[in-house]
Amino acid sequence: MPELPEVEVTRRSFADRIAGGRIEAARVGKPLRWPLGVTPQALVGRTVTGVRRRGKYLLIDLDQGVLLLHLGMSGSLSFAAAQPAPGTHDHFDLVTTRGVLRLNDPRRFGAVVFAPGEGAAQAVKLLGRLGVEPLSDDFDLDAFHERLRRRKAPIKQVLLAGDVVVGVGNIYASEALFLARIRPTLRASRISRPRARLLRQAVRDVLARAVERGGSTLRDFSNAHGEAGLFQLDAMVYDRAGQPCRVCGTAVKAIRQGQRATYYCPSCQKP
Ligand SMILES: [Zn+2]
Repeated sequence: MPELPEVEVTRRSFADRIAGGRIEAARVGKPLRWPLGVTPQALVGRTVTGVRRRGKYLLIDLDQGVLLLHLGMSGSLSFAAAQPAPGTHDHFDLVTTRGVLRLNDPRRFGAVVFAPGEGAAQAVKLLGRLGVEPLSDDFDLDAFHERLRRRKAPIKQVLLAGDVVVGVGNIYASEALFLARIRPTLRASRISRPRARLLRQAVRDVLARAVERGGSTLRDFSNAHGEAGLFQLDAMVYDRAGQPCRVCGTAVKAIRQGQRATYYCPSCQKP
C-alpha cells in the first residue's frame, strides 16, 4: 500500500512537469472507490496550477477547482508526454498540454474526486478529519502530547489511525516506535512528554528519510517514473521477525495489532 513517503515521492516526480498544463481530455475507466463527481468533459479547458499533498491525498490544483487523488491499496501514477492505449488496470487519464497523467490501479481502491475548492463538501469529507502533517512545522510537541494523553488505545494503533498525525502507515509506525524505544502496545495516554518528544522526532526522521530514499519497495508501488524505492532494505524491525535487533541482538518480535503486523525489539522498546 502506498504510504506518505511514496505519495510524496510520486508528487515530486511530476508536479513541476504538469504545472501550467491545460486539460485537453479526461478519461475515466472502470469505477474507482468514489466517482469523479463531474463529467470528464467538464474538466476540459481548465489549467493545472500545481500539485500538493495532504496526508496520502494528492491535490491537483486547477484554475477552477481541485482534483483529489488517492492511490488506495495498489494505485500508481505515471506521467509522460504520451501514453500507450489504456490497459486493463488503467482507470483514469488526465490529458494535458504538458503530458498525460495516468492512474493504474488493479484493486480499484484508489479514487479521483473533483471538488470546486478545498472548502467544498466533497473535499472536507475526505480531508477534514486528517491529523497534522508530520513533516510540517505544524507538528507541534505540546499539541501532539496532549492528543496522545486523551487516547487509551495502543500507541501503534493511534499512529495508524491518522487523526493525531497523518500518514504514518504500518511500516513507518513500527520503525518510528523502534527509534523512540517505545513498545507498540503501550497505551498512548501513558506516554510521557520526554517520550512524546522522542516519538515526534522519530516519526519525522523515518518519513523524511523514506522520502529521500524514494519511498519503499512495497509490492506493486512504483513512482511516476516507474522506479522502485529502497527504504525497506534498511528497516530496523519491520518484516524482521526472529532476526537479531540491529542495536542489541535480541530477536525481533512480531505481533498482530488490529489485524496489522507489528514488529518490535522486546529489549530496546520499553512498555
Ligand atoms: Zn534491541
